[in-house]
Amino acid sequence: MSIETMSLSGRKKEVSNKTMTFGEKLYLVAIFKGLMITIKHLFKRKVTIKYPEQTRELSPVYRGQHMLMRDDEGRERCTACGLCALSCPAEAITMKAAERKPNEIHLYREEKYAEIYEINMLRCIFCGLCEEACPKQAIYLTKSRVMVKSQSDREDFIYGKEKLVMPLDMAIQNTNKTQMAN
Ligand code: SF4
Ligand code: SF4
Repeated sequence: MSIETMSLSGRKKEVSNKTMTFGEKLYLVAIFKGLMITIKHLFKRKVTIKYPEQTRELSPVYRGQHMLMRDDEGRERCTACGLCALSCPAEAITMKAAERKPNEIHLYREEKYAEIYEINMLRCIFCGLCEEACPKQAIYLTKSRVMVKSQSDREDFIYGKEKLVMPLDMAIQNTNKTQMAN
């Protein structure tokens, strides 16, 4: 076979311009062949499921919605170092740092914290590099299945701290579980 006619996939077909016969012009055989393909699929196992009534098992490496974590005392772990934003290949993370005030020690673990922390969910590819880059274990990609809800406004896909920070009662529950296990 010459290089010109070689096909990498092996599925290349050469077409010809030969005149169609009367039988071919009726398209009956072609229609029948097409119908057979459709009918064959009626008896095959369905690949679709009735979501959300039915759900598939998640892969062990599934990465869902981000969460900005709290420590055992319910304080935000993030110190606004910016390493997650630097490591993000989609440039989806932006933040603004602020200095912790003396009366905010119970809110933020570090002296510097993220006053604003935003992730653009239209950019995010859920690669998990932000989680890996974080030196404070402050950002975590949860197994939450509802990653990004449908919206009609692009601004609504920019998730701020109100959506990202771990709920306080969840942090308290985690602390209680750890204490009971010890
Ligand atoms: S998961 Fe990946 S793309 Fe999404 S914010 Fe983190 S680093 Fe960026
Ligand atoms: S989430 Fe982690 S890496 Fe990102 S700014 Fe906060 S402390 Fe730094």
